[in-house]
Amino acid sequence: AGAVVAGAVVGGAVLGGAVVGGVPIEFDRVSRSFGAVAALREVSLSVRAGEIVALLGPSGSGKSTLLRICAGLDEPSSGDLRFDGTSQLGVPPHRRDVSMVFQHFALYPHKTALDNLTLALRHGRGLPKAAAVARARETLDLLGISELADRRPAAMSGGQRQRVAIGRALATRSRVILLDEPMSGLDAQLRVDLRVEIVDLLRGLGTTALFVTHDQAEAMAIGDRVAVLGDGRLQQIGTPDEVYDTPVTRFVAGFVGSPP
Ligand code: ADP
Ligand code: MG
Repeated sequence: AGAVVAGAVVGGAVLGGAVVGGVPIEFDRVSRSFGAVAALREVSLSVRAGEIVALLGPSGSGKSTLLRICAGLDEPSSGDLRFDGTSQLGVPPHRRDVSMVFQHFALYPHKTALDNLTLALRHGRGLPKAAAVARARETLDLLGISELADRRPAAMSGGQRQRVAIGRALATRSRVILLDEPMSGLDAQLRVDLRVEIVDLLRGLGTTALFVTHDQAEAMAIGDRVAVLGDGRLQQIGTPDEVYDTPVTRFVAGFVGSPP
């Protein structure tokens, strides 16, 4: 197990003294360097089944790199990543039962919302057409955006586009969903509304999620636990209250904004 931080044994399955069932995602001393730049330094982090972990840190702290490694879009320079105890190093993205939502939606611009979801299910998941269409409609319904089914991204607002992008990831029913600053670029009120929606959806589906943000309030509102990254290091992981009330490093105290 890794370092003891805020009552949690990071890198193991023990939390607050109790063994919690299942460790679906386990980063084990993950480092990643790009030439002379150390983007991640020995990050150990375990995410439990059905848990939403908010990954909070300033720009350049390594958040996207950690997510990309989890998705299989990048590999660590050293360390290991395990899902349910099985190393994922070398496992291609489509074999990982993970979906990712990017900052810039990345919807097919010339396809309708329904087609965007359906294509992801047919090509990404190999579902037959009829099943893919049914699942896509069901998901749009779940998100309350059935009326967008036949609309193309150009005819949607930013918030609508991002709902569709989230729907596309949720439609796959992946066990793990990775969200990389999915709400940046949206206005403040919309972000607050979407927060609640996203949490409700993830909880409803029992999805395990890593939610990246540089917004402290957003991390606190969304995460069951908040993992604070600074300079490529995991500075602290704990409940929002723990991180806010008892920051363990000067960096966390400064970034999260409560006195040390
Ligand atoms: P964040 O998402 O927290 O803003 P990133 O994970 O994108 O941070 O980046 C962490 C650090 O790694 C930054 O210094 C960034 O410039 C560097 N970095 C990330 N990806 C690459 C890459 N493909 N090539 C070179 N440097 C990179
Ligand atoms: Mg990033």
